[in-house]
Amino acid sequence: MRLFLAVRFGGEMRKSLSDCTEKLKAAALRGRFTSGENLHLTLAFLGETDREEDVRRAMDSVAAPPFELRTGGLGRFPRGGVCWAGTEPCPPLFDLQRRLSAALRGSGFRLETRPFVPHITLGRETVFPRDADFESLRPAPARMTVESFSLMRSERACGGMIYTERYARRLEEDR
Ligand code: ATP
Ligand code: MG
Repeated sequence: MRLFLAVRFGGEMRKSLSDCTEKLKAAALRGRFTSGENLHLTLAFLGETDREEDVRRAMDSVAAPPFELRTGGLGRFPRGGVCWAGTEPCPPLFDLQRRLSAALRGSGFRLETRPFVPHITLGRETVFPRDADFESLRPAPARMTVESFSLMRSERACGGMIYTERYARRLEEDR
């Protein structure tokens, strides 16, 4: 199955991001936009694999404390017309991503080698009018305490993507 690891969103963070997605949708000429329950920040993309148990073990081996995450501004990857929300600079997020990647590589998984760019994809294949004012569309400031990260399965359905949580690893203060 197709797997990835991600931080999921609830509460005011999800509200801020889905309100922003609605505004983007209204401003766009076209695009496929992410539904509220699908909003996530990818930590590692595994792709097609049947080694789920090994992934869970790698997740369990990662020790990291809970941390604060805040919404940032909007960004765009021209490739694929990807429109995304960033986060405020967050060193603990990079630490978590680094530890997790090291654990997965140690288990033989081959991961993306490009530098980690934390982003929450809000739209794909988007096209905006030339004068679109992205500054006015940015998400309202919101925060959350990241207390876990999740192993997600990704499936293509006729109506879009279906992401299903397979496992969650809690973050804990050092004991
Ligand atoms: P679609 O493929 O229809 O655009 P999607 O990208 O959300 O949907 P997946 O391709 O299964 O679905 O990807 C799941 C998550 O992993 C997404 O957040 C995606 O951006 C990320 N991802 C996919 N491929 C890579 C990759 N090569 N490197 C890093 N992250 C990736
Ligand atoms: Mg994809």
